[in-house]
Amino acid sequence: MTFESFQFHPRLNENIKDLGYTEPTPIQTQAMPAVIEGRDVMGLAQTGTGKTAAFMLPILHKLMNSARKGAAVRALVIAPTRELAEQINESARELGKKTNIRSITVYGGVSMHNQIKNLRNGADIVVACPGRLLDLIRQGKVNLTRLETLVLDEADQMFDMGFLPDIKRILSFLPEERQTLLFSATMPNDIRRLADEILTNPEVVRAGRIAPAETVSHALYPVLPHLKTALLVELMRKTDTESVLVFTRTKHRAKKVAEQLGRQGFSAASLQGNLSQNKRQEAIGGFRKGKFKVLVATDIAARGIDINLVSHVINYDIPDTPEAYTHRIGRTGRAAKTGDAYTLVSREDRPMIRAIERLLGSPLPLCRLEDFDYDAPAPKRNTEFDRPPRPAAPRRDSGRPGEKKSFRANKPAAASADGRKKSGDWSKPRRDDGPVSWRPENQRRREYSSQRQA
Ligand code: AMP
Repeated sequence: MTFESFQFHPRLNENIKDLGYTEPTPIQTQAMPAVIEGRDVMGLAQTGTGKTAAFMLPILHKLMNSARKGAAVRALVIAPTRELAEQINESARELGKKTNIRSITVYGGVSMHNQIKNLRNGADIVVACPGRLLDLIRQGKVNLTRLETLVLDEADQMFDMGFLPDIKRILSFLPEERQTLLFSATMPNDIRRLADEILTNPEVVRAGRIAPAETVSHALYPVLPHLKTALLVELMRKTDTESVLVFTRTKHRAKKVAEQLGRQGFSAASLQGNLSQNKRQEAIGGFRKGKFKVLVATDIAARGIDINLVSHVINYDIPDTPEAYTHRIGRTGRAAKTGDAYTLVSREDRPMIRAIERLLGSPLPLCRLEDFDYDAPAPKRNTEFDRPPRPAAPRRDSGRPGEKKSFRANKPAAASADGRKKSGDWSKPRRDDGPVSWRPENQRRREYSSQRQA
């Protein structure tokens, strides 16, 4: 199938060509005819399948063939994270270049002023995160009375982040007579129920589960926890890398590891939920353009973001689920390019390694870096991931889903005589302690839930 067969507006066909798309991806071939027809669609597809263009091209085509209706929004795309919203908006602008279709973003963490101004000036497409959109709807700043198409993107992640109640409230402000497209990487029961509720006779399309690219080679590097950073630095020095995406378990670790890489002479940035929106955009933009060779990120901050040309993914911390492993390494080896996925592992990671191997259907090779001192002793006091003492004043918390702070974040750190922070049971290791190799399962779960808020 070719793009011509969809008979898009000639301007759109030119933009498609300019972007270098020669033929539609499977999700585009399946979904676009139904979207053009005006049908509801349930799409099972992850980032990297071309799903954004699958809904955006038909939306642009339809909007170009009908007149703007004052300042009323005609298409609304709801996405879980600000980065994804920016990315979708960027696609709308690229695919809709030199058309008169206006697309804007609406999300929290930045001033409302410009968003309200943009809405007042008339936006055909609004790409929004649920919280801020709901605020603006309640203030009467968004006119959704003439909405034609609603897209819920990455619905499962929105559900995971606790946005479902907000979405239901937003739905109550939309005209019933509309087209609804729902995209989700997975189909848990709650998403199925939501789909049943809001979609009418949908066309169900799916782009096969993203299997790890065969062009990716995997390697496990067993190492003591306190030597992870040293091994990471050595690995990067001894490997011919282009751009490297490093994943850590927590926001704090992402920040610290990026700082340490910076001190070792690498151009590195971190991408994690504690950064301001500008800093996040700077990190992603800089990484895409090659200003930063290394991006150190948490799963949530990096999820859904399309970053091409990653030569190496390095799991500084093993992910918490096998699916997250496939998702992380899916960032490399794209478009038939080769890529490498390295994972630094300790004894405690064995159950997760087995689970990943079961998912991949083959064992992961164990590797050793020559001339690396694997027996270097742990420092008496490992300060690698220590946090600076916090002022006692309580921090303001937005309380909005997806913007919660880590469960430890508000605790001021009291130092004891030997400089260690007092916290909980001394006999048990803490999350950021270096030279330990024991982490009970319930602690792992707690860490995971705090990481999910990164
Ligand atoms: P998405 O799944 O929407 O995040 O898209 C992933 C990447 O695929 C983006 O960089 C798109 O620009 C790119 N893409 C989308 N459609 C096509 C296509 N038909 N041919 C080549 N690349 C595409």
